[in-house]
Amino acid sequence: MVQAITSMDEDFAQWYTDVVLKAGLTDYTSVKGCMVIKPAGYAIWENIQRELDRRFKETGVENVYMPMFIPESLLQKEKDHVEGFAPEVAWVTHGGLEPLQERMCVRPTSETLFCDFYANEIQSYRDLPKVYNQWCSVVRWEKTTRPFLRSREFLWQEGHTAHATAEEAEARTEQMLHVYADFVEEVLAIPVVRGRKTDKEKFAGAKATYTIEALMHDGKALQSGTSHNFGDGFARAFGIQYTDKENKLQYVHQTSWGMTTRMIGAIIMVHGDDNGLVLPPRIAPTQIMIVPIRQQEESVVNTVEEIRARLAKKFSVKTDFSDKSPGWKFSEQEMRGIPTRIEIGPKDIEANQCVVVRRDTGEKITVSLDEIEEKMAEILEAMQKDMFERAKKHRDAHVYDARDYEEFKRIMLEKSGFVRAMWCGDEACENKIKEDTGATSRCMPFEQEEIADTCVCCGKKAKKLVYWGKAY
Ligand SMILES: [Zn+2]
Repeated sequence: MVQAITSMDEDFAQWYTDVVLKAGLTDYTSVKGCMVIKPAGYAIWENIQRELDRRFKETGVENVYMPMFIPESLLQKEKDHVEGFAPEVAWVTHGGLEPLQERMCVRPTSETLFCDFYANEIQSYRDLPKVYNQWCSVVRWEKTTRPFLRSREFLWQEGHTAHATAEEAEARTEQMLHVYADFVEEVLAIPVVRGRKTDKEKFAGAKATYTIEALMHDGKALQSGTSHNFGDGFARAFGIQYTDKENKLQYVHQTSWGMTTRMIGAIIMVHGDDNGLVLPPRIAPTQIMIVPIRQQEESVVNTVEEIRARLAKKFSVKTDFSDKSPGWKFSEQEMRGIPTRIEIGPKDIEANQCVVVRRDTGEKITVSLDEIEEKMAEILEAMQKDMFERAKKHRDAHVYDARDYEEFKRIMLEKSGFVRAMWCGDEACENKIKEDTGATSRCMPFEQEEIADTCVCCGKKAKKLVYWGKAY
């Protein structure tokens, strides 16, 4: 079980696959392009769900559930939206043995369903705002797939809101982006760049898309959460109108926002190492694993049980009394990314202490059994903080500024990471950069700087600072 995995420097893609499988997160299935999420993986998703859902509800979000099928006529109501998704939708053409009168797609996203619902649900200004979210899976018929990063069916949440004014919709779009960013930084210990997508990269049918972009250990970018402002485009296509206080008919303004099981891939690729997964304490399903040494001795069994019970009041803690050797248990626990391990044997008990080992640094800390609760809180907090700082240091060390095109191309060829460069706003330059280097515009950061006057690609007057990168 705990045989070595491929080293990440040798082959990052293979390392990723090894970790996903050997940490017991997913498995292959006979269903092509889909994955089985195993208990260790699903427990991470449950923690993501719980924490995000709590943060959503603090801002007034309510959960609902929509059908998983969309009739073709409904999908086609908004032109840009259907064009964006048509190449990857899966169609249901039969019900039992009978061909359907109208084929239905399996939802790739649910804007059209929410719009159809809102068109009936919203009549008056008193019905607004609507701030709904659903937890579900969606289907996109991807050609190449990888566990958590790209699969034909994946789990996510999608929020869909309707507001009386454009200002309110814009405020909600930005608010949810910051909810995502704070969650990813505070809980997943992954630093992000907050910004706006260019028109080329924005969501199909959106007026504006905001994004958080994270950098993986191999220097590739991962789009980690997006929030879209639709203006009144969908409302006009679907006839979602309300009567305002002056009794005049108005269109609503809408937003949507989503985060997916991709974030588990991000955790692996930001924090993992050559011994396997490393989970930030705040998202880890098991924060502490107690490994008894000489577990056949009664005093060891009793002490381990007593310590487990005390710690269980504050932490998620497990004990490993299996018949494997301690060394085997250590590697297994490391592979699974459990943040800390406590070793307790007869000598420790005599000295009224135990040894705590941090998964991220391997540091061994001797702790008195009398203060185990306080010390574990300190160690887990320090680890959470250190993991964020380490990821940020790595990210910052892989951000490069390019002021002319030769420099841009050279950095893209020789290094991996984000390249910051000025852009004129013309899609032709984005296309040329992608063709020449494989990099796409990741975002126009909210915090703008002017590192040059001219576009890095064409030399015309620059409008925006853009983060560029190769992306998952
Ligand atoms: Zn240009």
